[in-house]
Amino acid sequence: MNLRERMQPDAAVDWLRVREDFPILRRSIHGKPLVYLDSANTAQKPRQVIEAVDRFYREHNANVSRAVHQLGEEATALYEGARDKLAAFLGASHRDEIVLTSGTTMATNLVAYSYALPRLKAGDAIVVTTMEHHANIVPWQLVCGRAGAHLKVAPITESGELVVEKFVELLTPEVKLAGVVHVSNVLGTVNPVKRLARECRKRGIPLLVDGSQAAPHLALDVKSIGCDFYVITGHKMCGPTGTGALWARRELLETMPPFFGGGEMIREVKFSGTTFADPPHKFEAGTPNTAGFAGLAAAVDYLQGIGMANIAARERELLDCATRRLNDVPGLRIIGHAPDKAAVISFLIDGVHAHDLATLLDQEGVAVRSGHHCAHPLMQFYGVAATCRVSLAFWNTEAEIDALVEAISRARELLA
Ligand code: PLP
Repeated sequence: MNLRERMQPDAAVDWLRVREDFPILRRSIHGKPLVYLDSANTAQKPRQVIEAVDRFYREHNANVSRAVHQLGEEATALYEGARDKLAAFLGASHRDEIVLTSGTTMATNLVAYSYALPRLKAGDAIVVTTMEHHANIVPWQLVCGRAGAHLKVAPITESGELVVEKFVELLTPEVKLAGVVHVSNVLGTVNPVKRLARECRKRGIPLLVDGSQAAPHLALDVKSIGCDFYVITGHKMCGPTGTGALWARRELLETMPPFFGGGEMIREVKFSGTTFADPPHKFEAGTPNTAGFAGLAAAVDYLQGIGMANIAARERELLDCATRRLNDVPGLRIIGHAPDKAAVISFLIDGVHAHDLATLLDQEGVAVRSGHHCAHPLMQFYGVAATCRVSLAFWNTEAEIDALVEAISRARELLA
């Protein structure tokens, strides 16, 4: 199926039946049915993923690429199978462009230390935006600090959109790399990554796109985006924690030295020197989270089975419904109004601290996140210490949005 087809919602999905795939959604919290509205933090897991991890340990457990016995071959096939599935999911040209990592943070650090640091010199710069997660700020600060380079920050508007012209203005000759979040974990803003990639490419500046919040919700195609690095994290896309991937153009991976040394990433080791395996294996030192990747492969199958276009369309409905309902709550202010927005709603209520609200909502069984969402600079931009954040997934229902709004009303009465 090509990207155009993958982006078209098709058959009517039975969302209530889909919901039954998630055992945890049957739980009660403080005597109330769980209403899980914290998917941007971590997604819940369908039984297909749980069973894949369980099956790995029951039937296939062995170390990868080290044993010639049957179990070793099965474990290796599952691990390498995850690479194939992620390559197809992201639209990579080749499976060798996928480095399996413990998540986005690890993938971005790999690019920071292995790609950026050797190229940075004093006076150089890396461009990011005001709406980045700390995982797309701190690794660059660390390598800039070592090289005497600095960060340049592209501004956003009050409504939470990137000012693209300003981003482009920052792409001057001393810039060695740009890093942009595809979908903001706080604002829900979907950034125009294709356009940003085109501008970077014109100037020969590699672009890393942080796809942590995009991969669970949108049909992706790294080739059509035109970026150079794309990083994802498994636990936000219904997969296990401790899994994720870096996609990078093969020619870039070939220029990058290994980041970690150890077993599995070598061709030959002598005390006089070591030669390394080809990418991607030279970046995958040590025993990986094989069971996790068996689970992530199942998660990719699961999401694709529903269809990313169907997921995006359903989440759009839920976002519209939740936005309408929350806008009716007196004193509630939503932060982030980009027209192209994923199902993430950050908000504040006059006179109510975000943590107090989240604590009271939890008493009603409603799980939302409160805090800075690992985006201090964005909080500083809006002049707030914390927000409450509702993040929806395809398994949520309109009834849960009602439950959220009722729980907020009760909490407001208690906190007023
Ligand atoms: N980038 C964004 C936009 C995120 O939302 C997150 C997680 O919240 C991360 C990066 C970091 O992901 P991980 O901790 O799984 O590496």
